[in-house]
Amino acid sequence: MPPEEELVRRELLRFVRRGAREGVLRGTFGNVSVRMGDEVLITPTASDYLRLRAGDMAVVGLDGDVRAGRPSSELELHLAIYRRLPQASAVWHDHAPYAVAAALITNEVPIFTGEGHGLIGLHLPVAAYRPAGSALLASEAADLLLETGASACLMRNHGLCATGRNLMEAYSCAIAADEAALHYLLTRGMGPRSLDSAEARRIRETFAGYHMH
Ligand SMILES: [Zn+2]
Repeated sequence: MPPEEELVRRELLRFVRRGAREGVLRGTFGNVSVRMGDEVLITPTASDYLRLRAGDMAVVGLDGDVRAGRPSSELELHLAIYRRLPQASAVWHDHAPYAVAAALITNEVPIFTGEGHGLIGLHLPVAAYRPAGSALLASEAADLLLETGASACLMRNHGLCATGRNLMEAYSCAIAADEAALHYLLTRGMGPRSLDSAEARRIRETFAGYHMH
């Protein structure tokens, strides 16, 4: 195995374990991937995140050709996002409960914090329900990210997906999305005060020039 692939495998493992330790990845739900040239390294199907090893990660070509391991059942979602968003180098998918709850009652979650605007965009869009693991869900979510320019979206009756230029950014984006959902649930109907849209846009643009690692 090339030394570069070994490093990327370890980095993916580090984030998956961190997600599990920090309660973001619960049970065997969710999956994470990182782009490596024209290939994608992705967590294996039904993984026990705390027992996973770097060698268990699956390798798949961007064309869907499985080259090693048994990729997550949500592989299509990851591939569809990489194909549509060339700036995405990591994709995080989980079943965060506030994200699921907010997606039941709205098609667009407002964002109230600077880090939310920086990491996600102006709003957090909600993808329509499609069966888990299906190509329909993959294109629904990837098209929505492309159309709205958001870096994350909620998936109705399912969870969320978040993207980033690296794993740190995708992980932070996933947390920011679940937090945006919680802020919305806690303040809905109480007249919560948003940042004005010029300020939200300024923060988003500033973040684009900032490299998180
Ligand atoms: Zn899922």
